[in-house]
Amino acid sequence: MKYNLVAPIAAESLEQQKLIFSCGHKATNGSSWGGLEKTVFANKLAAESGNSFLKIKNKIVSEIGLNLLFLWHFLTDKRYTTMNIHEYQGKEILASYGVRIQRGIVANNPVEAVAAAKQLTAETGTGWHVIKAQVHAGGRGKGGGVKLAKNLQQVEEIAEQIIGMQLITPQTSAEGKKVHKVLIAEDVYYPGESETSEFYMSVLLNRSTGRNMIMYSTEGGMDIEEVAEHTPHLIFTEEIDPAVGLQGFQARRIAFNLGLSGNAFKEMVKFVDSLYNAYIGCDASMFEINPVLKTSDNKIMAVDAKVNIDDNALYRQAKIADMRDIREENPIEVEAKEVGLNYVDLDGTVGCMVNGAGLAMATMDLIKYAGFEPANFLDVGGTADAKRVETAFRIILKDPAVEAILINIFGGIVRCDRVAQGVVDAYKNMGDAIKVPIIVRLQGTNAEIAKELIDNSGMPILSAVQFQEAADQVKAALTK
Ligand code: GDP
Ligand code: MN
Repeated sequence: MKYNLVAPIAAESLEQQKLIFSCGHKATNGSSWGGLEKTVFANKLAAESGNSFLKIKNKIVSEIGLNLLFLWHFLTDKRYTTMNIHEYQGKEILASYGVRIQRGIVANNPVEAVAAAKQLTAETGTGWHVIKAQVHAGGRGKGGGVKLAKNLQQVEEIAEQIIGMQLITPQTSAEGKKVHKVLIAEDVYYPGESETSEFYMSVLLNRSTGRNMIMYSTEGGMDIEEVAEHTPHLIFTEEIDPAVGLQGFQARRIAFNLGLSGNAFKEMVKFVDSLYNAYIGCDASMFEINPVLKTSDNKIMAVDAKVNIDDNALYRQAKIADMRDIREENPIEVEAKEVGLNYVDLDGTVGCMVNGAGLAMATMDLIKYAGFEPANFLDVGGTADAKRVETAFRIILKDPAVEAILINIFGGIVRCDRVAQGVVDAYKNMGDAIKVPIIVRLQGTNAEIAKELIDNSGMPILSAVQFQEAADQVKAALTK
């Protein structure tokens, strides 16, 4: 994942951007854009721009302060408050809410795949089967992760081929995702009285209106981003009033706009209603069904299911919480979560250890302005003692791309000298494990004592007090 600068987006103009930078990083000593810093920052901005202090402070509070976390999510395209599940799990949920689905059985190996195919034939009468890779990424069809088998021998061969493969799709990284299991599904594109058609449908939260909405299109089966780009008039939306819920006329309007009539129309109305109930019932943040299929005998069913669940609701969604598959997650992120660190893996080479999300983003911006890319987002939180610093070091060093580590801690509640001692102790404990330069910037209570502590430690740790100084040291360390 790539990190984008926060400051330019938060500012309205280039001038303001520069100000945010000079003020954010110098007037506040570059510490977190927390309460006190915002005040100092606003004062400085007001003096330089001639605007009133209050006006600017309100703007900062509303646009930068409160929205920092949201901005972070938005800019990195990472919603770490959602949990992903597999297609087969999404379909199980849908079926339990009465949504018609393409039926299937999960298999972990070719033998199970053949048994699953036989069972499906017995239950549904299907002759052909689709073998679908179960990974947390879309676009599997394009990557060779969805294939049709016309007999049991083909089921076995295709399962053999897909299970264990590194599946590369437009939505995975370049190395792809390892496939651990497949879904053996009934073929639902059989010929019949009418043509089959594929639609797109998703239920999600519209953040600008604060309402759930159903987004749908006649252009199913393909990338919705592409439809949005080239034929936006073929995408429709239906917003749901939270006070009354989804209304019958809305479901009928959807079926009508999709060009359906007769039995298919009736089925679509029921489909939309059940899908919306599933979305609400699971505390989901998204249900995306692409394609929704109209079969040749005019049934409406979900062929695919991409489901995101709001993390914050997992305490009351125990069944869904159990669906978590950590093999699909970044292993370093999983480990960090277990030890209570807020860590997000990024593409760059400069590892960051910071306290507070705001300061973390300012630090990542700084790294970018120095001409480098951050390797991670890591918020160690308020208690940066030796143990925690060491844990954070170990987590950062697991990423082989890391070439330098920048520690940027604001000692507000925690004293800088204690953090410095923590860094020195951690370094001693880890001995040879640390092979990259470390730059430490401590600002706040006892910052000078902390710097002395580090400088006199005899450890190869570089110290800085000013924000810019730290950036210069990162640059010097990496351009040697
Ligand atoms: P995605 O590529 O990850 O979005 O996976 P999908 O579940 O959407 O499947 C990809 C494509 O496979 C669909 O758009 C269909 O065109 C095709 N497909 C899925 N199920 C069947 C099936 O039962 N029979 C046939 N012939 N094609 C299918
Ligand atoms: Mn799909």
